Amino acid sequence: MHVLRTIREVNAWRAKLRAQQKKVGFVPTMGYLHDGHVSLIAEALSRADYVIVSIFVNPLQFGINEDFSVYPRDEARDLQMAQQAGANAVFLPSADEMYPAKPMTSIQVRSVSESLCGASRPGHFDGVAFVVVKLFNIVQPDFACFGMKDAQQVAVIEQLVNDLNIPVEIVRCPIIREKDGLAMSSRNVYLTNEERTQALILSSALREVQHILIEQRQGIPALDIRALAEDMISNQTDAVIDYVEVRHYPSLHPVFADYLIKYDTKDMILLALAVRFGRTRLIDNLLIGSDKGSEIDV
Ligand code: AMP
Repeated sequence: MHVLRTIREVNAWRAKLRAQQKKVGFVPTMGYLHDGHVSLIAEALSRADYVIVSIFVNPLQFGINEDFSVYPRDEARDLQMAQQAGANAVFLPSADEMYPAKPMTSIQVRSVSESLCGASRPGHFDGVAFVVVKLFNIVQPDFACFGMKDAQQVAVIEQLVNDLNIPVEIVRCPIIREKDGLAMSSRNVYLTNEERTQALILSSALREVQHILIEQRQGIPALDIRALAEDMISNQTDAVIDYVEVRHYPSLHPVFADYLIKYDTKDMILLALAVRFGRTRLIDNLLIGSDKGSEIDV
């Protein structure tokens, strides 16, 4: 596995593969790898000749009061995991390599990045869009894999790639969960045992909604779906809800309160949760409808 630390090294690696007409898949991450990341690498390997993973904690996508400085990092462990997963190269740039000077360009994907996490974390998706475009220009992959754990991020990147005709195919990958249902996240290490137990309410609430939708095929109003998830979280934990929202996907347009959501709806509907357990903010979601990207095993 090649360990590449500079943009020049990535360019040289990429040029060689281009000359050989190899298909290159890309998995951008912020490191502290877990099985969610590994599943993205596996998906990329199944579609490409070569797979490159980037590990970069992007300062631009963190707000001033967020966890940039304490975000978990473990380079040696990440390299071992990436290698075991079968990655052919890892790009590990320093902040100076990526941002030798303050960038003067901004990228804002309107509408889709304004609700949900975009509302709670102003500027977050501008930072994500910026680094993704930059990484795509450096790596020049044929496609890139993104997890539906961050469903809004996928919607933002798809919009960005469409708007700007960026020649990178975006591959949506399903959410990978711990055995007990908790969606894998590098941030799960922040949780105390007590918070870790309480955090199971996220997947339980989503599973309950999915179960009820399977039982009641005639559909359930969006308002009731939202209330069910919200009540479960607030009645069974002392966590602080950031949002519980039902939205069309991938537009993220609001859904009318009386809109009947059916398990096999042709429209895709996203039930998205963001909840704080102590100081740790976790997100999870269920995508209802024709794309079963985030279906929970029942
Ligand atoms: P991160 O390192 O958290 O920025 O995530 C890098 C990529 O891994 C993103 O595309 C995430 O959506 C994806 N990812 C993170 N957690 C999971 C998970 N539990 N299941 C699937 N993909 C994930």
